[in-house]
Amino acid sequence: MDIFSNCFSFNLFDKKEKDNICAQELDNLVLSNSTPSSALIVTDTSIKNNITTLIAHVHQADSPLIKTVHHTVFVTSSKAELFAMRCDINQACNKDNILKIVVITDSIHSAKRIFDSSLYSLQSHSAAILSKLRLFFNKSQNNSIEFWECPSRLKWRFHKDVNKDSKLFKSTPIFPCKTSWDFCKKTDSNDIVNQWKMCFQVSDGKGNSFLDLLNNDYNIIEPSYIKGGPWLQAFGHSNSLCTRTTQAITNHVLIGEYRLRFFTNKNFSCPCNEYPIETRRHILHECRRFNRYWNPRRDSLSHFIMFLTLNPKAFIFD
Ligand SMILES: [Zn+2]
Repeated sequence: MDIFSNCFSFNLFDKKEKDNICAQELDNLVLSNSTPSSALIVTDTSIKNNITTLIAHVHQADSPLIKTVHHTVFVTSSKAELFAMRCDINQACNKDNILKIVVITDSIHSAKRIFDSSLYSLQSHSAAILSKLRLFFNKSQNNSIEFWECPSRLKWRFHKDVNKDSKLFKSTPIFPCKTSWDFCKKTDSNDIVNQWKMCFQVSDGKGNSFLDLLNNDYNIIEPSYIKGGPWLQAFGHSNSLCTRTTQAITNHVLIGEYRLRFFTNKNFSCPCNEYPIETRRHILHECRRFNRYWNPRRDSLSHFIMFLTLNPKAFIFD
């Protein structure tokens, strides 16, 4: 990566740009590479009933189109994609007089893993690709490889052709099939997350007063382990915020509502003197003591966090 840093590049799909402009950019890419010294690889992956199909079309000017198909069962898509990339790049490197390889894919994250130097389970594939690329780059200083992202929803003509082929391809796996280690881990992990979600929905273990908040798409937040889970992602960066948020969400905080339940001899009215019971709802929506932030959607986690940040005295265990 240090020696050949100028020989490889990634072109990510610009989400802010209009689809037709991005498709036009890919068209221009094809035009500028329609020479016999460029190999254009367009790939697509589809998974149905645990059967992964990978199709690649290799375009080269003055040469017939080459189509390759790989299909397999019970592997993770990252593994399958990296394996297909290995085969396609291998094929392009072995062609004579190729100076430039252009890979157009809907799974650019798999392509990025080729250059990932950390330890991970699919490293045997990336190591094989890199050793092939080293030979390719050593052949001439002009040799290079480019990776372009092309999401399926763009429906770009070349990618649409590959996509059509992968849908038409029917394969019947010969049972019994081996299950890869990654796939087992993924299945286990999915099962556990589904169990979490189910328990979270039906169990009263989270407490009767648990405040169900919404994500930015206004769906109820569900447990997940990615990046520490959706809640900690939003407020885990600050200890004090984390404490207050947890107290507010579980309603386990010294406010009137709590005193009314556990210390009935104590005063439970709101210090604003406008409400008989200082409830969480009152604090969040009505109390004039905490009016530093107003947004009607306080049921979403991000607005809830904004409210707590701008009202540092709300929900403190004083
Ligand atoms: Zn009040």
